[in-house]
Amino acid sequence: MADPNRVPIVGGNWKMHGTRTHAGELLHALRAALDGITDVEIVICPPALWLTDAADALADGSLHVGAQNVHWEPEGAFTGEQSAAMLADTATHVIVGHSERRQVFGETDEQTNLKLRSVIEAGLTPILAVGESSEERSAGNTDAVLRRQLHAAFEGLRTLPIGTVIAYEPVWAIGTGLAATPGVAQEAAASIRALVGDRFSEATGSLIRIQYGGSVNAENASDLAAQLDIDGALVGGASLQPAEFASICGAFAHAHRRTRA
Ligand code: PEP
Repeated sequence: MADPNRVPIVGGNWKMHGTRTHAGELLHALRAALDGITDVEIVICPPALWLTDAADALADGSLHVGAQNVHWEPEGAFTGEQSAAMLADTATHVIVGHSERRQVFGETDEQTNLKLRSVIEAGLTPILAVGESSEERSAGNTDAVLRRQLHAAFEGLRTLPIGTVIAYEPVWAIGTGLAATPGVAQEAAASIRALVGDRFSEATGSLIRIQYGGSVNAENASDLAAQLDIDGALVGGASLQPAEFASICGAFAHAHRRTRA
């Protein structure tokens, strides 16, 4: 069972889905199902276009708004981009280094580092995503890949804000329906925690929250939530279904209550 000092955090990454009408309905349904829930922090990450709609729909409630991406420069001639300072008006969290950004858009470890630093500087909470491909896992390189991604992301940082969230997202599990087993997810989360402890401090390692992401659903959430080093989930597909997403959030809240009992 996870450390009772770490409140689990569940993020819903809508990716590039829906219409504005659908987004409005989803926000309404999520608020109705989840506002006020305790023992879990919930972050809704809609497409950038609807961040302000989300901020308005969730205002004065307990659900947070997160952005799916950010540009590292504070401002300038960067067509189509948003800076962390701009996001800070509407969002509290920002996903950085998602594997779709890395693979589809060719983002490098160095760019992930710049993004992470800009998010921290803007006072926002980063959700730093890392994870290996199936080829890397088959070749026995999972630890080396996580190590490389994390060390590169942390370059130039002397401390890591305790609120920082790291999402372990094996690429082979994202959107495939093939979630990592709880054991596999736990093993990777424990490695990440140890690395963060070595790189920054023991306290940082033990307080940082680590999510698992990759085909999380209402069925597998409880077993993942029961793992020692897993403090939440980053959820893609299931975050578009209010009842399913609420059930995942409930599973993590329930697991946290048990750690405190
Ligand atoms: C994700 O996009 O981060 C993700 C984990 O997606 P899915 O839950 O659909 O696998």
